[in-house]
Amino acid sequence: MLEKQIQIYKETRKKIIAYQYYDWVVGWDQETEAPKGAQNYRLQQIEVMANETYKVSSDEQYMNAIEYLHENLNDLSDEDFKTEVKKVYKDLRFIKKIPKEEYIDYQVLIASGPQIWAEAKQKNDFSIFEPTLEKIVQYNRKIVKYLETDDLKGYDVLLDLYEEGMTVKKYDHFFELIKTELVPFVMTVTKNNKEKFNRKLTKGIYPKLEQEKFSKYLLEVFNFDLDHGVLKESEHPFTSNVSNQDVRITTRYHEDILISSIFSTIHELGHALYEMQTDSKYNDTFLRGGSSLGIHESQSRLYENMIGRSFIFWEQHYKQLVNLFPKQLKGISVTEFYKFVNQAKRSLIRIEADELTYPLHVLVRYEIEKSLINGKLKVKDLPRKWRLLMSKYVGKRPITDKEGVLQDIHWSFGSIGYFPTYALGSAYAAQLYHFMNEEINVEQAIENNNISLINDWLKEHIHKHAQSKTPQELMLIATKEPFNPKYYMDYLKKKFGTPNA
Ligand code: ZN
Repeated sequence: MLEKQIQIYKETRKKIIAYQYYDWVVGWDQETEAPKGAQNYRLQQIEVMANETYKVSSDEQYMNAIEYLHENLNDLSDEDFKTEVKKVYKDLRFIKKIPKEEYIDYQVLIASGPQIWAEAKQKNDFSIFEPTLEKIVQYNRKIVKYLETDDLKGYDVLLDLYEEGMTVKKYDHFFELIKTELVPFVMTVTKNNKEKFNRKLTKGIYPKLEQEKFSKYLLEVFNFDLDHGVLKESEHPFTSNVSNQDVRITTRYHEDILISSIFSTIHELGHALYEMQTDSKYNDTFLRGGSSLGIHESQSRLYENMIGRSFIFWEQHYKQLVNLFPKQLKGISVTEFYKFVNQAKRSLIRIEADELTYPLHVLVRYEIEKSLINGKLKVKDLPRKWRLLMSKYVGKRPITDKEGVLQDIHWSFGSIGYFPTYALGSAYAAQLYHFMNEEINVEQAIENNNISLINDWLKEHIHKHAQSKTPQELMLIATKEPFNPKYYMDYLKKKFGTPNA
């Protein structure tokens, strides 16, 4: 009986993975290559395939096999397989606990959300998005009720969807530290920030062709395996893959903002190296890929900020940049360039925020989501609350909703509970970086252009495990202690603290 159920499970899994692969290739094509006019025809085909995938993944025999295997976990000898069964069993709750009708209605609602949001943002008019957001929040409150367990209540349910094991209690502790330690620190550091940079840096034009060359150079520096990866261009940079055999990243070139493509490329390289270095044995299982959003973001931030924005890194690679832009960067020292890429200032837009102020933008969203889900905040009061919290925590108050509550797409496709993982990722990164430095000579590796040493350390401690370990387990493996936000505070204060601040 057990063997039979394992066989049913594995055969169906093979099919689902193949369907997901097709879906992935079409999605990648849509983001990078496809002409606009192809959309309708493509959507028709996607709909057919989506139905087929749903049929296979909700097949009764398959679902019964999962239930059976879960009931007989102790009879399974392979630890990874046990973990996988627990994971797919947990995912079944969406189909089992949420009434089908409601689930489908919600899918339709969030499919139309982004378009309505985009119009509201473009017209700078919250009232266009308000009714849709109201419905999305109502649905999320209902989903919370359906999925609540003895351990997870309210907003916890949503937080756990995006970062398994994280709860309001744990996030409260983390954000409290940001509030009491980081907010006053940032206010001081950014108060008298009148640093002026060379106009060539702020107003120069940097042709795309040369920027592309530098991005390709970065691929080499970070040891990106071009036999199993590609770099392309897209509106919003991202990393995409379904196995470690084919990992694709994109970046975006702004001719008037040189550093945008540089740090987007390094950021996505961090995500990609993680995926590439997962153990191949997971490729044909549902344990493939990165462990969680927070851990994923910790890898991209570690590469982008701790390595890519370090002085030692630019001491090595700045000359290459100057070679590509001899006129534009003439007379600009590596020190000035380093300061330029590490400037901290109060700003309104999260995705443009610097390393220091970034978590404060997330703090604003965390507090808002928490009170939206527990019913203390009404959707109609959102714009006002947003402005209030921005002045309180970031020290800058948006005038328009476009640069306030309407700036992010996430809520429009139903993602409530996602934002906190961004700040968590940076905090994980600081803790990992601290312990990595105790075991290997990171600075020397950067200085000798030997990033492989860092890649190898991360492969051994984080990457190779794919989803076979939870975020908490990975932090324990890599740093020998549970997540501790203190390392993040120390790191930021050390990097951005000035003697007279
Ligand atoms: Zn990222």
